Amino acid sequence: MPPDRKFQCVAVRSPRGATTTEIDWADGHRSVYPHAILRGYCPCAGCQGHSGTIRYIEHTEAQLDLEDLEVVGNYALRLQWFDGHGTGLYSYRYLRALCACAECRPPESTAAEAHPDLPRV
Ligand SMILES: [Zn+2]
Ligand SMILES: [Zn+2]
Repeated sequence: MPPDRKFQCVAVRSPRGATTTEIDWADGHRSVYPHAILRGYCPCAGCQGHSGTIRYIEHTEAQLDLEDLEVVGNYALRLQWFDGHGTGLYSYRYLRALCACAECRPPESTAAEAHPDLPRV
């Protein structure tokens, strides 16, 4: 199995009004992302600045509604939020690193904190 199947997205499920988005990966893994995580780790320069470290950005409940989701090339998703924010390009590599399931993260780490090793996108 080529190593990059891990970073190939085969399906995205984000029903309107849902609070999570699901991604199926080509290696058979499934990730479920609470929107609080996706928004909190928005990778755009407006949210993250230009420092090398990815930070969790605080947001309000109202900012967690996803309006649209667009596949960009073969490597990323662009998320458009209802409040108009939509510059964040979430590469598959980045999304895979954000996966907080039991298999990807040790049980003691909580989803909203401690992603020290996220790749810079
Ligand atoms: Zn952003
Ligand atoms: Zn996972």
